[in-house]
Amino acid sequence: MTPTMQAAFVEQFGQPLVIRDVPVPQPVPGQILVKTEACGVCHTDLHAASGDWPLKPKLPFIPGHEGIGIVVAMGAGVTAVKEGDRVGVPWLYSACGHCEYCLAGHEPVCPDAQFGGFTRNGGFADFILADPNYVAHIPATLDARAAAPLICAGITSYKGIKETGARPGQWIVISGIGGLGHLAVQYAKAMGLHVCAVDIDERKLAHATRLGADATVDARMGNAVELVRKVTGGGAHGVLITAPSLPAFRQGVGMTRKFGTCVLVGLPAGEFPTPLFDVVANCITIRGSFVGGRLDMAEALAFAVDGKVKADIELQRLADINSVFARLKSGDVPSRVVLDFSAA
Ligand code: NAD
Ligand code: ZN
Ligand code: ZN
Repeated sequence: MTPTMQAAFVEQFGQPLVIRDVPVPQPVPGQILVKTEACGVCHTDLHAASGDWPLKPKLPFIPGHEGIGIVVAMGAGVTAVKEGDRVGVPWLYSACGHCEYCLAGHEPVCPDAQFGGFTRNGGFADFILADPNYVAHIPATLDARAAAPLICAGITSYKGIKETGARPGQWIVISGIGGLGHLAVQYAKAMGLHVCAVDIDERKLAHATRLGADATVDARMGNAVELVRKVTGGGAHGVLITAPSLPAFRQGVGMTRKFGTCVLVGLPAGEFPTPLFDVVANCITIRGSFVGGRLDMAEALAFAVDGKVKADIELQRLADINSVFARLKSGDVPSRVVLDFSAA
């Protein structure tokens, strides 16, 4: 009998996911099969399932790009991992390895890049097929469930902070203290930055303070931009916008210091107005940042091994994915939900 597994499928954009029993996929040469232990639920999964972006995945697909598990089978010719290894199957599922972007360590923008839980089936399933050359290597000291958020929320926050160019002792604004932002606060503190946390939810701001933020500002205040400029003495050297909300982007540019860099990471559908005169006259850089490459992944995980960064997780079951999505959409998830497959 063919072994089967449970997986949550997006069959129609904007509709509830459907959990189905399907055959366990078999690895072809060069592929590995990972038995899922845990998978984080990223706001990107929600955008993907809603069909929010100009780039849409082919239906039906299995979301999830924070899947952690054990290598249980390998196709021929695999040398990068061995059976029994704990790995993560991230958003950067694979890339060509040879183009100018791959050579520079910018694999996520490789024209041939595949994305986990988007153009390739992801971790909302008992098993995941993966490319052994692009999996995250999960250090033995990290628990699978605690590691899950690090392979998207963690790496994206860490890389985005680096892209601001802010140096130790300088100010960074983290806008959006959810799955990404609660880790960004910790990375930024570990990197020696002063952190001003911005959100629209008092509970998230209180959490940022517990995580070490030096200041908090409620983005709903009419004068939120002025408040940040006051706290930071003229604007933050770096601004990282993780909020999945367009007004946060216009605000974030206003919170950026002269010659500072505002890094856009959140991916709500649409566009935001840019105050051209202010950006030019203040020599502000506005820059996109898209997850990170394999070296960024190793660096991001190392902070957790050193005990400097720890994801706050709430465990749920795959069967509850639709209620988790509903809560994520309404801003009701405190930090990160991780689907726990060991509980099944
Ligand atoms: P999340 O839902 O866990 O957190 C979002 C946070 O933003 C919440 O705390 C919410 O209260 C806050 N927020 C909402 N509106 C706000 C506003 N106007 N100002 C300030 N804060 C506001 O989401 P997440 O999983 O952290 O993902 C955040 C965004 O980042 C999503 O759009 C996701 O697709 C995107 N993302 C991008 C990348 C990338 O590579 N660029 C990677 C992962 C996620
Ligand atoms: Zn993600
Ligand atoms: Zn490439």
